[in-house]
Amino acid sequence: MPLQAPFSSLKAWLIDMDGVLYHGKRPLPAATEFINALQDEGIPFLFLTNNATRTPAEYVQRLGEMGISVNADAIFTSALATARYVKEKYPPPRRAIIIGGNGIRLAMQEAGYELVQRAEEADLVISAMDTDATYARMAEATLAIRAGAPWIQTNPDPTFPSERGIVPGAGSIQAFLEAATEQKPVVIGKPETGIFRQALDILGAAPEDTVMLGDRLETDILGGHRAGLKTICVLTGIASRAQAEAYHPRPDWIIDDLRALVEDK
Ligand SMILES: [Mg+2]
Repeated sequence: MPLQAPFSSLKAWLIDMDGVLYHGKRPLPAATEFINALQDEGIPFLFLTNNATRTPAEYVQRLGEMGISVNADAIFTSALATARYVKEKYPPPRRAIIIGGNGIRLAMQEAGYELVQRAEEADLVISAMDTDATYARMAEATLAIRAGAPWIQTNPDPTFPSERGIVPGAGSIQAFLEAATEQKPVVIGKPETGIFRQALDILGAAPEDTVMLGDRLETDILGGHRAGLKTICVLTGIASRAQAEAYHPRPDWIIDDLRALVEDK
């Protein structure tokens, strides 16, 4: 199935995953058909996620279980975007304190950074969602930032939903460190433009030829707009039609689900 007009004229795609391609472990309608259409037509795309805890390999496996088959290099997390940004701005060899899980730890190691524990050893501080954050580790990060180490935050999401309700996310770690250091980090993930700039660079795409497809207005749509991209809000996730229509900046397109991209209407 080919992509439908007007979407067939877009030259590159950035695609959010949760609420767009799947809900939990359930693929959403036409998710596989849509990705197949991009692959068949050789249209470059990246899956763009603020979640810095998982590695690309973990996403490839998860998507594969839902019938969506992509290579690891199609996955672009805020962890990878952060490592790429840091590598440009503060090239290795340097030593970093990381508050964060596997995703960011691996990304920074692969980019050539040594991970350290103590403030006195650290040239950089990187913060992210961390289910094992302790006071002692937060104190080391605080001391390093207060001593002048550049501080980069993977993504700003304050909370995320768990099976038992809303729990602290990466942005809560950020808020803790902001209170402790009286400073603010450089933030890379959506809706900041850092992750979009890195993604466009990887795809070799111009913003005006590229579209951001997502379900969240205040990250996917706002971030895409700020980065100069076209935007599509899909209503299978967080945003309702009423919210999407009332939002500024208004998405360029609002679609009920991914069938609108691949099926004749
Ligand atoms: Mg989403």
